[in-house]
Amino acid sequence: MGYVGYEHRTSVPACDAQRPHLLKGRCVALGSAERAVVVDVGPWPLEERNYGMTWPASERYRLEAAPAGLALVQDLLNTLAAGKPREPDLLGDLTTAKNWIGEDLSTWARERDRPEPQVEINEHDLDELRVLRGELQDALRTPDRRGAEPALADLSALYSASAGLRMNRDSRVSIEPRGTGWRYIACLVLMEALEAQQTNVWNRLKICRNPRCSVAFFDRSRNNSGVWHSTRVCGNIENLRAHRARARARASD
Ligand SMILES: [Zn+2]
Repeated sequence: MGYVGYEHRTSVPACDAQRPHLLKGRCVALGSAERAVVVDVGPWPLEERNYGMTWPASERYRLEAAPAGLALVQDLLNTLAAGKPREPDLLGDLTTAKNWIGEDLSTWARERDRPEPQVEINEHDLDELRVLRGELQDALRTPDRRGAEPALADLSALYSASAGLRMNRDSRVSIEPRGTGWRYIACLVLMEALEAQQTNVWNRLKICRNPRCSVAFFDRSRNNSGVWHSTRVCGNIENLRAHRARARARASD
């Protein structure tokens, strides 16, 4: 199996664009005026991608899901209101949030081959989840997460969660999330972040640099240099803005 990726050139529904039959360099008709052009971005083999999984928050923004359970963290970040026209905040009210959590936990359980967790949330949990989302977003915005030694202030705990360790009869050790309500979700998020750090993909989960967008995307570029969730959508807007600012500066000289 070769390494392939794809790039949205026009409006392509995520469910269509993620079909593995898309091959490098091929334009695929997906319906009225929609097409996807597949480009080589590696290094994730097709079979490791999240095909057929449902991550409702990220799919609203037509984002390709991060690998395995890391997509849960991405989906929490993408519950925010973004896009054009503006999509609603999925943590905006209790009913919407419960639906989102139900769908995400079901996808996470399938992805991780675990029993589906049942998590009840109330208004207080919803507040805490919004805080968690905001702080996680700020943490991922740190300019160079691979780089220099962190400042002392950065070493204090942002979040802590309790989890259990369990060894199965086949000697495999797994982490068991603990807690109820928002604490359980926070525990899952920290578990997935830990795993992503151990497999060296955590620093590919990024927040789009366009402040009006701010969706979370998984950077599959070869050298992990992406800053926009879509160069075409957000990169161009930003380049145009910079170009106009330069033109204005020249005109006023
Ligand atoms: Zn963006």
